[in-house]
Amino acid sequence: MEHDIRQLLAEKLCYRPKNAYETLSDAQLEEAQTYAESYKRFLDASKTEREAVKSAVKMLEKAGFVPFEPGKKYAAGDKVYFNNHGKSLCAATIGKKPVEEGVHIAAAHIDSPRLDLKPRPLYEKDDLGYFKTQYYGGVRKYQWAAIPLALHGVVVLKDGRVIDVIVGEDKAEPVLCVTDLLPHLSAEQNKRTLAEGIKGEELNLLIGSRPFKDDKASEKVKLALLELLFNKYGIVEEDFLSAELCAVPSQHARDVGLDGSMIGSYGHDDRVCSYPALTAGICTPAPETTWVVALADKEEIGSEGNTGLQSTFLEYFIKDLAEGQGGCGRRAIVNSQCLSADVNAAYDPSFPDPFEKGNSSILGKGPALTKYTGSRGKGGSNDASAEFLAKVRAVLDEAGVAWQSGCLGKVDAGGGGTVAAYVANLGVDVVDIGVPVLSMHAPFEVVSKNDVYCMHKCFEAFFRK
Ligand code: MN
Ligand code: MN
Repeated sequence: MEHDIRQLLAEKLCYRPKNAYETLSDAQLEEAQTYAESYKRFLDASKTEREAVKSAVKMLEKAGFVPFEPGKKYAAGDKVYFNNHGKSLCAATIGKKPVEEGVHIAAAHIDSPRLDLKPRPLYEKDDLGYFKTQYYGGVRKYQWAAIPLALHGVVVLKDGRVIDVIVGEDKAEPVLCVTDLLPHLSAEQNKRTLAEGIKGEELNLLIGSRPFKDDKASEKVKLALLELLFNKYGIVEEDFLSAELCAVPSQHARDVGLDGSMIGSYGHDDRVCSYPALTAGICTPAPETTWVVALADKEEIGSEGNTGLQSTFLEYFIKDLAEGQGGCGRRAIVNSQCLSADVNAAYDPSFPDPFEKGNSSILGKGPALTKYTGSRGKGGSNDASAEFLAKVRAVLDEAGVAWQSGCLGKVDAGGGGTVAAYVANLGVDVVDIGVPVLSMHAPFEVVSKNDVYCMHKCFEAFFRK
């Protein structure tokens, strides 16, 4: 009897985030599995920001969204999207309330760490052909050697023609790779720190070994590769100057675990928030308040550039929507609320040291609400207000799914930022939320299927508010 009272009291007073398996109904758990299948297809088709924009546009157009026209007056239920230079995107469905009263924003990013080709990438060394690379975003360089990589991107010719390149996804196609030393000869390399295990200038992509037939040429492998590129794409070496090509892991998204409860893939960060933002929006065709999904580029390198969220594309999109209705754009912005949706570092039982477990997110307990990111003394963080957190807590509870709170590791263990601070700079109320990820930024990141589904439900509850 006494034990029961204590238990009841504990349930009433203590905060204990539940696992999604305890929270979701059997029907929802089933739905989470189905949802994971469509998410995996999105991942495989969207390995770069350009590809993610194409996938998003396809989804949106199928659901009746049309390109946004500035100056046009949009009415409740109108569905629009704005493709920003093919690398970032805004989508919205107009609410019953005037846009001037504020919008509900879900902001996520669609770029991921990878190996970009340098502007003059092609060279030959000791009868082998290579591409020089420069890594994009925060990578642990040793993780990118000795794994199959695919080449993705575009080459833009001087006349403006865009040549799309994808090599290494289809099983019939070759892949590229960065080589590493054999254990038998790595005595010296083993003395390096892990951070220096593979150095930046050693991340060279092996791309060929077949020499050109003419035995008078000097760099015969390079020449043969240029001939191949010319025959296949019509490009010459100088065209690399106006190209954006990168190497990304060539494997496709796979179920992880003997129980298949998780998904392993390249690029969960941050497609695992981008995709649920899109699907939640598409599932909310008649909102009270206008919802806006912003899928940004360049987050991994500081949200710079005209496709990153430090630029004005989101701000102007919302202002244009409000002003098209005869409202005030500035007021629309400051009346808005935003979930800045980016992945959270899931507590890793194999590497507990950098985490403070009581404030870390746990894989499988739903999206993690994060008051502040940043590093050391919250440097570079948005640090959401208690008032806004209270509102969001209420919305998440209404969603009836698993969610938890989560900070990024121990106080002085490191740190990181998200787009939250840049959206907040506009005057918008913003808080971070995101799916917990194991092995974040690795070529193969792991998430829980239930967490991805719960993320979708959380956005849906926010957009329907
Ligand atoms: Mn991210
Ligand atoms: Mn990241």
